[in-house]
Amino acid sequence: METTVANRLQNIKASLPLHVTLIAVSKTKPIESILEAYTSGHRDFGENYVQELVDKYAQLPKDIRWHFIGHLQSNKAKYIVPFTHLIHGIDSLSLLKEVNKQALKNNKIQDCLLQVHIAKEETKFGFDASELEDPATLNTLATFSNIRIRGLMAMASNTNDTEHLKAEFTGLKTLFNILKTHAIPNLNMEILSCGMSSDYPLAIAHGSTMIRIGSSIFGEREYKH
Ligand SMILES: *Cc1c(COP(=O)(O)O)cnc(C)c1O
Repeated sequence: METTVANRLQNIKASLPLHVTLIAVSKTKPIESILEAYTSGHRDFGENYVQELVDKYAQLPKDIRWHFIGHLQSNKAKYIVPFTHLIHGIDSLSLLKEVNKQALKNNKIQDCLLQVHIAKEETKFGFDASELEDPATLNTLATFSNIRIRGLMAMASNTNDTEHLKAEFTGLKTLFNILKTHAIPNLNMEILSCGMSSDYPLAIAHGSTMIRIGSSIFGEREYKH
């Protein structure tokens, strides 16, 4: 049988534990491929670039749950807050403040994940664990009335070293559990978003509840922004 986007997606989905949500990462992929996944019943899609997300949102069915998984610049939050289901890449309090402002304007509570820097690479965005364990950070977070933090997001190192990856995922899960003990009304630690095409089984084994899969569903990306 020919493997199509829908086949690949449904095969991965069928292999997942029930508590794990699959985000189909459609960045750089055409509307037709997204529609193929949509028609097979999928509703959660992830995009990395603001303009691309805005364009796709306009063209696609309105019951899609859009996940913004890229690096968000504060001045662009206003374009995606009106319709985005979950913003994964919150990597600073100043960004969170701006998202809160836009959520207030749109009369919505914006669900967000805090991105944690777990990889050894310098280039990856996110909070350090120590910043999130700092009471000052959590106290500021508590003042954002239109934000609901639903959990954490991370990208592990780009390596085949399983032991190294395990250590990163374990550290993330430990931080998740620590944050879970805080009684802050808008901090609801339920989601751990980690795991991509190359490492998602290991991520799930270490507590991930949301995986972001691009190339294993849509094929390799032809170009990068
Ligand atoms: C592109 C991307 C993914 C998906 O990567 P694949 O290796 O294609 O599965 C997941 N998360 C983030 C943040 C991404 O930018």
